[in-house]
Amino acid sequence: MSAAFGTVRKVTYAADRVLEFKERLDGFALLRAGALTEGTITHWRFDNGLLLRLRFHAPNLIVEHGSQRQQVAVSWYSPYPPIVRPHLHCPTCDRGCYALYEVGGIFTCRICGQLDYACRHINRHTPQLTRIARLRRKLGADPAPFSPLPPLSSLRPSRRTIVGQILALERGVVTSMANVADDLEARAKKSGMLRR
Ligand SMILES: [Zn+2]
Repeated sequence: MSAAFGTVRKVTYAADRVLEFKERLDGFALLRAGALTEGTITHWRFDNGLLLRLRFHAPNLIVEHGSQRQQVAVSWYSPYPPIVRPHLHCPTCDRGCYALYEVGGIFTCRICGQLDYACRHINRHTPQLTRIARLRRKLGADPAPFSPLPPLSSLRPSRRTIVGQILALERGVVTSMANVADDLEARAKKSGMLRR
């Protein structure tokens, strides 16, 4: 069954192409968990039960899942010294990314995975998402809502204010999404897809 997430210009967008629905291998999260320390083996479990075995031997993170094995190159960059951030390189285009996403058993970048942000499809309901993405870019963070933000202790006071604005806007999005869910449910009931 191809689930529909939303409709834009009469084009149905498949849920399996929505970035926020994919399992996300996040460079920050790996760093915080110690998975990017030389020689470390980490067992990494996602909410959907997918379990990965990660081994780090610089500059590569070896990602194993059952008999599947993928090598992800990791590089480091420093937009605001002394803060250093990991970049995970897409196995297809070699672009350095904050995160890679699971598509067909392989972790790949958003573009090679042909994934799109949910906000492009629900923006009419949640205009705050554009503002959230803009503020997140100011901090050099991933523009996707609810993705990790730099730790407050690493930020100047003016940038901490931006974090506060982002968190307030993201709380607003949660409320909006509840309204969208109510709206979709009402439409589904009206169309007979759901029992009233
Ligand atoms: Zn790519």
